[in-house]
Amino acid sequence: MADNERKVTPISDLGEFGLIEKLTNKIKIKNQSTLKGVGDDAAVLDFNSQKIVVTTDLLTEGVHFNLMYVPLKHLGYKSIVVNVSDVVAMNATPKQVTVSIAISSKFSVEAIEELYDGIHLACEKYGVDLIGGDTTSSLNGLTISVTAIGIANEADLAYRSGAQKNDLVCVTGDLGGAYMGLQLLERENEVYKVSPTIQPKLDGYDYILGRQLKPEARIDMLKVFSDLKIKPSSMIDISDGLSSEIKHICKQSGVGAKIYEEKIPMDQETKRMAEELNMNPIVAALNGGEDYELLFTIPIADHDKIRNHPDITIIGHICDAQEGTLLVATGGSEIELTAQGWNPLQK
Ligand code: ADP
Ligand code: MG
Repeated sequence: MADNERKVTPISDLGEFGLIEKLTNKIKIKNQSTLKGVGDDAAVLDFNSQKIVVTTDLLTEGVHFNLMYVPLKHLGYKSIVVNVSDVVAMNATPKQVTVSIAISSKFSVEAIEELYDGIHLACEKYGVDLIGGDTTSSLNGLTISVTAIGIANEADLAYRSGAQKNDLVCVTGDLGGAYMGLQLLERENEVYKVSPTIQPKLDGYDYILGRQLKPEARIDMLKVFSDLKIKPSSMIDISDGLSSEIKHICKQSGVGAKIYEEKIPMDQETKRMAEELNMNPIVAALNGGEDYELLFTIPIADHDKIRNHPDITIIGHICDAQEGTLLVATGGSEIELTAQGWNPLQK
């Protein structure tokens, strides 16, 4: 259906309650721990004796996303994924989410339904119940706040503070793709602003575009860890770039780390895009963020358990705090990683 044929219903036609009803009426509760979801003053949850983890993220139009090139369905999906990823980074299983939105009058009922299509799809995929939220108006643009709730046995919880000297530093998947996907979208958006009739050149970059627009949380790793009988000594999800995440682990664990440039896993497309933009791809991995992979440490005694796992790469090890948090460059030189990330000009 062409854009101009699409039905556009002003939100005022439904009112707040009508909109909430439309957005939530298809919800089917999946988890036993959800006693009461949407529809009362509060949701009611029952977790027996397990520990509860809670996390919140706030996404604001113009700051965290640009609706010029981010479809609302993808945005809804991603807003759930980023929270699920935080729960998973505690080695906990996500169970429930609440979603609160502030919407301006430029959004129609159909637009918000698209956002919720993405939200419902992610809830389905990750097995979480949408149990409530809040809906309000905003003067400008869209704001989405998601809170996720998960459970874990106390002994399984992985904090940022548990890394020990000699532990192996590991990552899942590959890094830098989401950032290079964003660079590509930004580039094509600039072209579009000048010449709206030119078709965007996105061919051949499906992987990095997917990494940016439809990231997935590594919920699969919960099973991998439990099957391999591994408990990460520390763990964090990579939302801001490897550099700042390893700094968080080191600071909170009171240790240092050495990360080897040549070990950092990157996809071919990430490298190809970086080359096209005259960038060092390692900068995307270190400072780019939004990959939602897991960065974790394990005791060296567990080396054999993960050595041949296709989704896990050992990128370095933990050392004493005095040694710093270092990137060992391919040539052998050592560079202190900074919380903002690594400045390639120092090389
Ligand atoms: P209250 O006046 O108590 O805040 P609301 O009318 O805002 O209640 O919400 C009614 C029900 O709908 C509650 O269960 C609330 O959690 C849920 N809800 C409200 N907005 C949303 C939303 N955007 N997404 C999902 N659930 C929502
Ligand atoms: Mg309310």
